[in-house]
Amino acid sequence: MDDKVIVDLLGQVGNLFTSSLELKETIDFMLKAASDLVSCDAATVFLLDENGTSLSAIATFPFTESVAQVATFELGEGIVGWASQRRKVVSVVDATKDSRFKNLPMAHAPRSCLVMPLQSPQRLVGALTMARREVRPFTSVEQALMQVIANQAAISIDNARLHERQTVQLAQIAEQKHELERSYAQINEISRLKSEFLANMSHELRTPLNAILGFSEILKDNLVALEEEQRHECLENIHTSGKHLLELVNDVLDLSKIEAGRMELSYDDFFVNNAVREVHNVIRSLSERRDIELSIEVEPHDLMVRADKSKFKQVLYNLLSNAIKFTAQGGKVWVAARCDDSETLCVSVGDTGVGIPPEHHERIFNEFYQVDSATTRQVEGTGLGLSLTRRIIELHGGTLKLESQVGTGSVFTFNLPLAGLQTTNGHRHNRILLVEDNRSNRELATMVLSGNGFEVDIAVDGNEGLHKARSAPYDLVLMDIELPGIDGLTVTRMLKSDPKTSSIPIIALTANAMKGNEQEALAAGCSGYISKPIEVANFVQRIATYLETEAS
Ligand code: ADP
Repeated sequence: MDDKVIVDLLGQVGNLFTSSLELKETIDFMLKAASDLVSCDAATVFLLDENGTSLSAIATFPFTESVAQVATFELGEGIVGWASQRRKVVSVVDATKDSRFKNLPMAHAPRSCLVMPLQSPQRLVGALTMARREVRPFTSVEQALMQVIANQAAISIDNARLHERQTVQLAQIAEQKHELERSYAQINEISRLKSEFLANMSHELRTPLNAILGFSEILKDNLVALEEEQRHECLENIHTSGKHLLELVNDVLDLSKIEAGRMELSYDDFFVNNAVREVHNVIRSLSERRDIELSIEVEPHDLMVRADKSKFKQVLYNLLSNAIKFTAQGGKVWVAARCDDSETLCVSVGDTGVGIPPEHHERIFNEFYQVDSATTRQVEGTGLGLSLTRRIIELHGGTLKLESQVGTGSVFTFNLPLAGLQTTNGHRHNRILLVEDNRSNRELATMVLSGNGFEVDIAVDGNEGLHKARSAPYDLVLMDIELPGIDGLTVTRMLKSDPKTSSIPIIALTANAMKGNEQEALAAGCSGYISKPIEVANFVQRIATYLETEAS
């Protein structure tokens, strides 16, 4: 090779190393240039790994495909590791006679070799090896030429690796920046929602509080001379506002429970009809006051669903109270429940009310969202009901949809998985024996229970209770504890120890709301404990739940 060619090649090598930063291309070019300048049978470039502990072949020439078969060397291991660790150029006359060579394949063993550490001014980056199959040692001129290439290559590899690392880092930074921007946008949105929520909340709290404070002040300080009827109205107002506040707080708590994933459903199998009737009883006065016809249709009559009954009723209550609220005097509201297929319960709550414009169909399910119409402004509301309703339904694995036309009315329809359609035939679990000596308590409990479809029988003392429980089949005994003659706990123990009556569940009903009384009642054999005074809605709900649990 004449001098001009050599100078040309060296020039190209120099240019390449300053112009291109692609690691693999640079190395391939260097290997080719090296084997053009200095004749050899194989040339290999090894790169030192990130930890600076082992050297792996990255490229070979001319057998480019065989790079994977080239051994990896720990620093200090084999001739490559040896030369690299000592930062020394090694020219081997005959590899087969050098003990530093690792696992030499004798059939194709290289003979004369040149091993050069690749070092940039900063660090060791790898090694370059050149081998001949014959014993023809590399001359000092050849070594000098290779040294020029090796120096250039080391700098170029170092730069390329830095460049690679930088590119990765830049990509990571860009990704982190993107992530930060996303989090920032989320935080902004949360903070906006929070401010909106607080503004809404304080407004919603202020309205009923204003009424409570205003009316109670009038009453407390006798600010206005009031007729008896007006005093009653003031009290009525305070009571309604208090109830509204409680509803608001409960809704907010429920929503935050759902949000935090802490809303637990307590599943029961129950008759859809019973749940609808119970809600109907509570809501009937609202519809009657507005002269709204409220109809109920449950098909089949004994349709059962597995769901959280109190939440199911809350959903119905929310939808029905909205339907009544947004329907003019004399209109119609209906509930229709049916079994869509063998797996789905479908409940529609419809009205002939004001209807909802299409652009609000999705938004009314957002917290505090209310359609800003004359009707909405006239009626009470928190804007939380539908949002809560939808989430409760979704928690059950169901969906809630709306069809509505302004001026015609709205139909909210929800689907719930039935979790196995069940119908019962014959026996209904609703016969209750009430053992209670106090007349007004007896009357209240009887009225509430009969009004909700239970059959109630009465015993006025322990003796009569024992006698009746033994002579007729009951599904549940409600047992007052303080009874004349034999007290309720003794009667309970006697019924529980008699095989004829031991399976009847007994619920203690008592004014002794002291801690320890409950344990005492449970120890005597009671399945539950209800303290007096009873809260009507809750009372019915608990009795229904006990009966359903016992029945299943
Ligand atoms: P609230 O009834 O307490 O205002 P909701 O979340 O239950 O809150 O309902 C949100 C809004 O959706 C209501 O304020 C009303 O504008 C609209 N809406 C709900 N149900 C009906 C309905 N049956 N007919 C007309 N508008 C309704």
